[in-house]
Amino acid sequence: MAEPEIEVRDLAKTYRMGDVEVRALRGVDLVVERGEFLAVMGASGSGKSTLMNVLGALDRPTRGTYLLEGVDITQQDETALARIRSQRIGFVFQSFNLLKRTSARENVALPLFYAGEPEDGPARADAALRALGLAGREGNHPSQLSGGEQQRVAIARALINEPAILLADEPTGNLDSKNKREIMAILQSLNRDKGITIVLVTHESDIAAYADRTITMKDGQIVDDTRPFAGASVHRIAPAPSALAPNARPRDVQHALAFLRMALSVSARAIARNKLRSALTMLGIFIGVAALIAMVAVGQGADLAVRAQIESLGTNLLIVVPGAVQTGGVRGGFGSASTLTVADASAIAKEAPDVANVAYLIQQFGQVQYSNKNWNTTVTGITPSYLEIRTWRPDAGRVLVADDMARASRVCLIGQTVLRNLFGRSEDPIGATILVKGIPLQVVGLLSARGQSGFGRDQDDVVLIPFSTAERKVLGVAAPTMTQT
Ligand code: ADP
Ligand code: MG
Repeated sequence: MAEPEIEVRDLAKTYRMGDVEVRALRGVDLVVERGEFLAVMGASGSGKSTLMNVLGALDRPTRGTYLLEGVDITQQDETALARIRSQRIGFVFQSFNLLKRTSARENVALPLFYAGEPEDGPARADAALRALGLAGREGNHPSQLSGGEQQRVAIARALINEPAILLADEPTGNLDSKNKREIMAILQSLNRDKGITIVLVTHESDIAAYADRTITMKDGQIVDDTRPFAGASVHRIAPAPSALAPNARPRDVQHALAFLRMALSVSARAIARNKLRSALTMLGIFIGVAALIAMVAVGQGADLAVRAQIESLGTNLLIVVPGAVQTGGVRGGFGSASTLTVADASAIAKEAPDVANVAYLIQQFGQVQYSNKNWNTTVTGITPSYLEIRTWRPDAGRVLVADDMARASRVCLIGQTVLRNLFGRSEDPIGATILVKGIPLQVVGLLSARGQSGFGRDQDDVVLIPFSTAERKVLGVAAPTMTQT
């Protein structure tokens, strides 16, 4: 008897936001056999998406073990996880997550880049689209497709690498009832006819009824596990053998690195040809997440830089950082090489038509002080576009504006962690003057809480200041660039 598809023991996930801990998962035990169709139900906030993200190797648990086809996922490095995500797991999300200015065919063929862009990619994508009833729509962009059709494109994309598992987080959440039924019929047939293991999150019991087992979550734990049709005989074909042999790793890592190198050189060429979108595509797929993220390290140590940074997820975001420089045998951190300039950022904004928005930033650790308190935090000089790209709004006060940039105003925005460490409980920070690396700046905005990043970093532990102020008055070096398509 083969090991279960999924075996989770005492899984816990705690998010830390400053002093506040959110225990999203608190000791989940779950075994999912190959070929099972499992529905996950539960109230909003009960931990369903967190569980899915851990099962999909998009997020790491705080505690516990997770065996996927017998392989301990918690022990894999990011390169191995990326490979597992792209080859063994298909993702379907409520919001489809298709690339906007890209045809259905290209969207579906995206994950094939991981396998080195086979020549029959477009043909395979067309076949997958046909199987989902989308013949004739191959060249349509998402905006030229209905919601139900977009979700079918997303399902075709999830299936193109023939995954063993399909993880679907509220896949029918944005659809009308007719499309809901159609999408659920598709999932059911994938499970019954192709033997694909399906884990589906839903809060609707009529959707859960398509599954043959339902677990219910409450406050980060499984409180109910039922198989309404236990005993009913369902014909299943034998699932495909696992490609995750535990001793196959070194070659796979080499394969992944070879792919990464290829992806980077293609990216460099694509950027050179102003085809930034294809660069995004390549790297996004390497990571294997439907939502695209890419990191390109420019300069020395690109491989290492990308591997280290790849965990930090964002959407449609390309972050360009200068490579670390070697000075007198000491390796500097990211951004220690001044090989990227503001002119590079302006060039990307001007030359690359697919880039929607460009921000650049400069970052250093530094001390901030207010009255008798001080705190060490990250001081980041940003362009006003940075907050737009991160969709980061202030809870109080205002954002940074073009005028702050033009005048190099002595103003700043503070994160929640900085607030807690510098100000008393009932003190209003807006209008206060704090010292940032010894320079007095007025607090004009309090940033909303962001919590921990996938990288385990407290995103609220930050002071944001205008880039020009940073460069001329507070920090003073050249900057990495961030762009968004
Ligand atoms: P569900 O999908 O069941 O609605 P989630 O798994 O998204 O629930 O969230 C479970 C709990 O964890 C919620 O209280 C939510 O606010 C919290 N949470 C989820 N993601 C984060 C995060 N990145 N940082 C901090 N808290 C989070
Ligand atoms: Mg959710």
